Amino acid sequence: MENFIAKLGYKYDMVDKKELTMCLTFKVVIPHSLTPVLNELYQKAGVCVNRMLKDRTKSSSKYYKEIPCVLAKSLISKYQRNKKLKHVKNLVLPVCGDKGKQVKIVEGGIRIPAFFKKSILPASFSKPIFGFIRQVEFFKRGGKWFMSYSYNTPVLSKQEVQGFIGVDRNSVGNVAVCADVMTGKVRKFGPDTAGITKNFRNRRKNLQKKGAKNALTKIRRKQSRRIKDINHKVSKSLVDYAKLHRSAIVLEDLGKISKKGKAKRYVQKSQWSFYQLETFIKYKAALLGIPIFYVNPAYTSQVCSRCGSINKPNGKHYKCSCGHFDHRDSNAAFNISANEWFIYEQTAGPSASVVPCIGDGLNQSSKKVVQLESSGGAR
Ligand SMILES: [Zn+2]
Repeated sequence: MENFIAKLGYKYDMVDKKELTMCLTFKVVIPHSLTPVLNELYQKAGVCVNRMLKDRTKSSSKYYKEIPCVLAKSLISKYQRNKKLKHVKNLVLPVCGDKGKQVKIVEGGIRIPAFFKKSILPASFSKPIFGFIRQVEFFKRGGKWFMSYSYNTPVLSKQEVQGFIGVDRNSVGNVAVCADVMTGKVRKFGPDTAGITKNFRNRRKNLQKKGAKNALTKIRRKQSRRIKDINHKVSKSLVDYAKLHRSAIVLEDLGKISKKGKAKRYVQKSQWSFYQLETFIKYKAALLGIPIFYVNPAYTSQVCSRCGSINKPNGKHYKCSCGHFDHRDSNAAFNISANEWFIYEQTAGPSASVVPCIGDGLNQSSKKVVQLESSGGAR
């Protein structure tokens, strides 16, 4: 165990030096009074971008005099330098911050003199700003103009942790189930999304029959907003829970397995929402200095968290011959949290999986070694 902590400590230091700040992006609606400026720029920029893509050698703002110099430069780097780009479908108006020269932070928001002269764009800064505004983008959605702006904010250095909580993400059942291997506590976050998904699916089906395209797009966006909202709330409470219990968060490394296309549970349409949840957990944790670790997701729902033997869960029930009976997701969450320390060993020998016994804490000597085939992706 000591050896393990030492390894982690080394890992923290490596991370700390690289990531002292992180970039956050926010979105606001542009007030009505400023939209005429954007509408005009949008038209002109469209013409310019077409010229940019036709003749890639004209990669200087002097060829695009009809738009502000900073917009021309930003469009060149966003679109013209992208060699694969043939045409632009949803034109975005980017403005590079240029170290505070083009995008200024003022009382009440942001000022972009090249676009709006002295007018102030309302923007709030919920996190402390490190440096300048990096970039601003204007885009139109559903007839409304929006601005997204990003800036760096300092992150806390990685906090010392006393435990690990394993997080099992689900498409059926609660969004996330987490287990603390030290205390044996299980907590469920978020609603059971199955009902929500089903509801939206039915509504989409009806619209598909009618061939109502616009309504279909609307309902898709509504669904993704709903999921996003849930993911924000779940990640927030999860990270707060980890902070309170001074624990690191342990996630399954889904990137690894889904590439192989073996883990059925995650190779579903809902995969993007797992990824979104992970992104939210990552940045919220980084802001609070909570470390995150990954484990190989193979067999997390099949291995018994008490004795290490492998059983197929029946629906949401998990039953083992050792007498262990649990909810499938909490059993998986325990496996994820208990497996935390072996991710490093995992890189050395990808075919071996180690499951410590809960009763013995994370005592190295008590771990049971389960040999798993690396090709076996059945869950
Ligand atoms: Zn068992």
